[in-house]
Amino acid sequence: MGDVDAAVARAGAAFESWRRVAPGDRARLLRRFAAQVDAHLEELARLEVRNAGHTIGNARWEAGNVRDVLDYYAGAPERLTGHQIPVPGGLDVTFHEPLGVVGVIVPWNFPMPIAGWGFAPALAAGNTVVLKPAELTPLTALRLAELARDAGLPDGVFTVLPGRGSVVGERFVTHPAVRKICFTGSTEVGTRIMAGCATQVKRVTLELGGKSANIVFADADLEKAAATAPYAVFDNAGQDCCARSRILVQRQVYDRFLELLEPAVRALRVEDPARETAEMGPLISAAHRDRVAGYVDGADVAFTGSCPDGPGFWCAPTVLLAGSPADRHWREEVFGPVVSVLPFDDEADAIRLANDTEYGLSGSIWTRDVGRAVRVARAVESGNLSVNSHSSVRYWTPFGGMKRSGLGRELGPDALHAFTDVKNVFIGTEE
Ligand code: NAP
Ligand code: MG
Repeated sequence: MGDVDAAVARAGAAFESWRRVAPGDRARLLRRFAAQVDAHLEELARLEVRNAGHTIGNARWEAGNVRDVLDYYAGAPERLTGHQIPVPGGLDVTFHEPLGVVGVIVPWNFPMPIAGWGFAPALAAGNTVVLKPAELTPLTALRLAELARDAGLPDGVFTVLPGRGSVVGERFVTHPAVRKICFTGSTEVGTRIMAGCATQVKRVTLELGGKSANIVFADADLEKAAATAPYAVFDNAGQDCCARSRILVQRQVYDRFLELLEPAVRALRVEDPARETAEMGPLISAAHRDRVAGYVDGADVAFTGSCPDGPGFWCAPTVLLAGSPADRHWREEVFGPVVSVLPFDDEADAIRLANDTEYGLSGSIWTRDVGRAVRVARAVESGNLSVNSHSSVRYWTPFGGMKRSGLGRELGPDALHAFTDVKNVFIGTEE
């Protein structure tokens, strides 16, 4: 805890000068940081394969995402404009003031992108950052801090502090000089963090769990829906808050959809994640594999894919049939390569079942009927929906959850405002 306090003190001191760095200079430093990440892309990707078991293809995308998010927000310092509002007797202007020291708390499932989504806009808006990676996956965050230093970011502007959540993370929450927490992880810990922040009215952004629905209507391109469904849930071995882990299929095409899904699941390449052909690697830890297996035990297994035996926390992609929406695997976030399938009758039934969850992060809608696609997209209580596609994340569009999946939005044009407070200044002009 002494180390955390010392780092926060350094970050607080660095804030006084960082906030005054000319916008163009702050932008240039962030672009240099992006260039450093780009120059070390392969090294970062390989480090993530070793540390987190991500497939090499995914890990390259993830390192590239850090570069892109830095480049995107490097365009922000000169554009962080306020308003000029007409008032009698003077001039009224608003400023987006940085908050101070921002604490970013990162989970193990996407160590690089989730770190970047916090630190890039925070730094661009003029804050300094202390970042805690997950204990299981600190290596790429530590390397990013070195790259930031090599890019010329001043000392104390971006500090990575590995350590336990209950020690380092908790201290971010209780330390009065940390003015905002940007947290990604479980709904359970996120809820505690929000309560802790409340005692200081500390700003907080939460990206939490999900149990997202993939809704397949009878009129959809069933071949495409079935061929893509495995990637929408088994990517990163299902350790993805956006995983479409509930597949809702309209009853008249339910059997046909499962027939098409089976070969797609069996064809998924689950292998050594360092191989160029790997589509899915192992789970993060033995304890997590046991937790995931607990959802499959005793459940109605439709079919599974394959996975290597031998060393590694392997778990084969698994398709479960839900007997009813009360099934535990239908309700709880498994965070592994397990998907549950349930039939529905009509549009109203699909919407009701999709919304019958405490979560609301992402989801997909498969139909050829444009009106229905729009109606269902508006009715599903979820922050990120895709129609005839499974995409969730683009760094230039907003990302975040409804209900207990989170609070606030990351990425996109508005995320900067989550790292600033609006200040209104009136200047009297009367003689
Ligand atoms: P977690 O416990 O919420 O951990 C996320 C981050 O918060 C880690 O850096 C963790 O540190 C830190 N942390 C833990 N307790 C804390 C506390 N009291 N105060 C401040 N920070 C704290 O999540 P997990 O244990 O990694 O995973 C558990 C489940 O959460 C998963 O199985 C999944 O269901 C869900 N999850 C969701 C996401 C998502 O992207 N939405 C990501 C990860 C997990 P340490 O781990 O270093 O202790
Ligand atoms: Mg935990």
